[in-house]
Amino acid sequence: MVVVLGDQLDLDAAAFDGFDARVDAVWMAEVAEESTHVWSSKPRIAMFLAAMRHFAIALQAAGRPLHYARPDAPAGNGGSLGAQLQADILRLRPSRLVMTAPGDWRVLQSIKAVAEANGLPLDIREDRHFFTSARDFAAHAKGRKSLRMEYFYREQRQRHDVLMQGDQPVGGQWNFDAENREAFGAAGPGAVPPRMTFEPDAITREVIALVNTRYAEHPGRLDGFSWPVTRPQALQSLRAFVQERLPLFGRYQDAMWPGDPWLYHAHVSAALNLKLLNPREVVAAAEAAHRDGHAPLASVEGFIRQVLGWREYVRGIYWTQMPEYRERNALDARQDLPAWYWTGATDMACLRDALAQTLTHGYANHIQRLMVTGLYALMLGAQPQQVHAWYLAVYVDAVEWVELPNTLGMSQYADGGVMGSKPYIATGKYIQRMSPYCKGCRYDPAQRSGDSACPFTTLYWDFLMRHEAALARNPRMALQVKNVARLTDAQRQAVNERAAAIRRGEVGVAQHA
Ligand SMILES: Cc1cc2nc3c(=O)[nH]c(=O)nc-3n(C[C@H](O)[C@H](O)[C@H](O)COP(=O)(O)OP(=O)(O)OC[C@H]3O[C@@H](n4cnc5c(N)ncnc54)[C@H](O)[C@@H]3O)c2cc1C
Ligand code: SF4
Repeated sequence: MVVVLGDQLDLDAAAFDGFDARVDAVWMAEVAEESTHVWSSKPRIAMFLAAMRHFAIALQAAGRPLHYARPDAPAGNGGSLGAQLQADILRLRPSRLVMTAPGDWRVLQSIKAVAEANGLPLDIREDRHFFTSARDFAAHAKGRKSLRMEYFYREQRQRHDVLMQGDQPVGGQWNFDAENREAFGAAGPGAVPPRMTFEPDAITREVIALVNTRYAEHPGRLDGFSWPVTRPQALQSLRAFVQERLPLFGRYQDAMWPGDPWLYHAHVSAALNLKLLNPREVVAAAEAAHRDGHAPLASVEGFIRQVLGWREYVRGIYWTQMPEYRERNALDARQDLPAWYWTGATDMACLRDALAQTLTHGYANHIQRLMVTGLYALMLGAQPQQVHAWYLAVYVDAVEWVELPNTLGMSQYADGGVMGSKPYIATGKYIQRMSPYCKGCRYDPAQRSGDSACPFTTLYWDFLMRHEAALARNPRMALQVKNVARLTDAQRQAVNERAAAIRRGEVGVAQHA
């Protein structure tokens, strides 16, 4: 019996090697626990269930017998992967289980436990979706003091011969990051080619109705649900990106614009993580666009660095660091994540927009995740496991192996420097530089204390003050620590008071909420 999880929707996965329809069968299950172990948003639940139900049809069309546990099955539903698998093992009596290695540590443990309890052999196969196996990453990591993405990425380029000319990088440079940091300027982004949307078909509409009924209290909404949920749709989406938006992807990678999270981004993360798309075809399509003269090198390199570099690197971090990684809290952050993260009811213009888009679409672009929602939580001192639960719940692309290192490591610095050499902190002026949000906001990014002070700016100084001694030991933070040392006692006191008011929930909450 081949076990297929909701993020393993690939007909060519290793678990199907040698599949013989006369004696083998596929097992899939929709279980409530996967939607409730974190308070999953409606778009995220709908994304997984719609893609799973469409994949079930693809399996049947490929002639592979399927046992698919639905939540409304007359025989009942086990409620968790472990319980459902246990019930189906007793009913179907398989002689062994086969699966592609799961992306989630928790799920791996639960399936192993069921197999063991039933004395069933469990054949776990390498997930060849990825360029780099967990074992290869562990070999790369062995003996290194720190694991920086840049070195890993260069190795990936060489090993997989991507954007290479012999043993040299195409264009003579590994990295064009410096060219990829533009904002849109006063005129705005202009006519950005719209993202590809897909009208829900009958299967997706049934899923939407189910989610709206069963998970009515969960955050987010489904009236605009239009994600690709099949492989042909995902391929269409990828082609449209490469054709229409990739040429400007790099230049505006870090830019933000009110009301538009899509901009020049690819919107392929959910399709990739559910395995509707293969990263090799994504990288190859981008590389071909450069070769054909369709997209400039800086854009193509910037995009490939995300997929071949960051995506593979965070997976390596996850599997070399789990399970302890999930519990890390290097900065001893203990504040509760504000309740308005789940509703969007804040009067901070940048956060209100990022949260509204997140709840409506299950999407925010990378810079909103890192430098708006993530930055605020970090400087507030939000407990990292609460921040992790939020990110894992709200995005359609959220799967723990990719979400956790991005949240705990890159964004919250809770791993104490495994992923990044310093915490990413900034005042509201960063957001002012990269977007026009501050113009329409009741706060002022230039003020660090007083009634109009931007909470980001207050919390930036408060963060430096709270962690001054530890940060002073980090050479990359020297300049920022020097600036905080210049504050007078009265200035420190004013920042303290304002930060305390923010933490008490007296600042930042929408008055009309
Ligand atoms: C706090 C935080 C949480 C995140 N959680 C997730 C998550 O749950 N799932 C997820 O797929 N990504 C996550 N990311 C990474 C990134 O924000 C998303 O991959 C990206 O925004 C998806 O949108 P896109 O497809 O339009 O990406 P683009 O900006 O167009 O980038 C192209 C592709 O590169 C890959 N990529 C880009 N950045 C990263 C990264 N840092 N790590 C891994 N892959 C990357 C993605 O597959 C993405 O589709 C997170 C980032 C942060 C800061
Ligand atoms: S002033 Fe501060 S809170 Fe308001 S939009 Fe700018 S950065 Fe965000």
